[in-house]
Amino acid sequence: MDVDVLIAGAGGAGYPAAFRLSKAGFSVIMADPKGELGGNCLYQGCVPSKTVRELTQMIKRAKLLNTNIDVNFQLIQNHKDKVQETRFKQHKSELSETHVEFIKGEVEIVDNHNAIIKGDKDLNVRAKYIILATGSEPFRPKFPGENLCITSDDLYKYKSPIRELPKEMVIIGGGYIAFEAATMFNILGTKVHVLVRSDKILRGIDSKLSSTLLSLMDKNIDIRFNSPVLEVKKNSKSLDVIFSHNGNKELLTADQVLLATGRSPVYPKGIEKTEVKTDRKGIIVDNSIITSVNNIFAPGDINGISMFFHSAVRQSLVAAHNIMAGGTPIDYMDFNSVPKTIFTFPPIAYIGITPDIAKKNGIEIVEASYPFAKDSRAQMYEEMEGEIRLFFEKTSLRLIGGWIIGIDAPSLINEIGIAMANGLTARQIADYADQHPMTNEGVSYAARSIF
Ligand code: ADP
Repeated sequence: MDVDVLIAGAGGAGYPAAFRLSKAGFSVIMADPKGELGGNCLYQGCVPSKTVRELTQMIKRAKLLNTNIDVNFQLIQNHKDKVQETRFKQHKSELSETHVEFIKGEVEIVDNHNAIIKGDKDLNVRAKYIILATGSEPFRPKFPGENLCITSDDLYKYKSPIRELPKEMVIIGGGYIAFEAATMFNILGTKVHVLVRSDKILRGIDSKLSSTLLSLMDKNIDIRFNSPVLEVKKNSKSLDVIFSHNGNKELLTADQVLLATGRSPVYPKGIEKTEVKTDRKGIIVDNSIITSVNNIFAPGDINGISMFFHSAVRQSLVAAHNIMAGGTPIDYMDFNSVPKTIFTFPPIAYIGITPDIAKKNGIEIVEASYPFAKDSRAQMYEEMEGEIRLFFEKTSLRLIGGWIIGIDAPSLINEIGIAMANGLTARQIADYADQHPMTNEGVSYAARSIF
């Protein structure tokens, strides 16, 4: 079969390009072994984990009314499955409105232009362009008993067999997945322990942001630093986790052990038959999303630059636009303007240049902040810890970065992001009448504080 574009993977990096290119008149074939659109994000990642988080948030807020809420994890998981089903159906109907040919199957690469889709039957495809959008999967470090641990995929996957709230959970890892799960299960009533290999959490984010988050997390969560795992063993009813700490062997017991040790790219079979280059993070692309082979594109988690669904969607469209332009780039991904949220309790979100990056690069900044202690909506929920903080370039007072610690961080970051991506100045932000009584008020309030 001859097509203009073959797309491997139907997640956030795959289907937006498929829809865009098909609308522009290109013949598009897209394959995914899941047989559903939405990728790992919908099947076992962001959508289900954030559904469980939203319900946890409701439980936490309902405690303001002194209600004794009986947490029923089975009902939480049922609702999660229902949301996933709704979205599977929605994507099916969106797909039916396009001319994209979607096949349930795995793409195996033959060379720069040819591939086989291994589905019910093998289909040989010759394509002018190939989009590799095969995403990522949880990384599993090797230690004895690693196979006894679950990953976030097991917890959140569609129809997950885990329907009972763990009484005690050990989480291995110090990144965002570890602390999102830790703070959430802590509220649901699980006794949570986190084993962090080094002395830091959330490497790669601004040091003040991570230390503030650490200070705000519930002290009931047992965080052990410098504690690499040695072994996990089955005992009669639960699991023993043996780890090292200050040269000693220590032991924790839990009914679930969650491995949250990062994600690695998934390459389609046969990728070595192309000249596509990879590095430690994934397939090498520049901000045109073109790989080292000029007819092959690699948006999304597979390039490891910015592993978020919303980043993948924009990268997918950049790839589509550059294919529409015949492979000569006309569109570029702005990786600096991707908002990032860590959905802990409290949540944090950030974008662009933060003080650590500014210092490293000799950029002079002006900081403007707004404490949630003053915010009416934060007061309604008694969630007054944290702040909104904006970073302006000193000479132009243009917004170049920002963060939110606390209430509504995941949605507030978008107002800051759109202002930053479009080069707004402190004056322009200060003059905007943000909606009262919502936490957005703090964005313009913070900007006004420097005048
Ligand atoms: P992204 O956000 O980058 O789109 P995801 O991990 O959410 O990443 O989605 C990647 C999708 O690619 C998954 O649905 C997965 O099933 C699919 N996939 C993985 N390997 C292959 C392959 N060889 N052929 C086709 N699809 C694949």
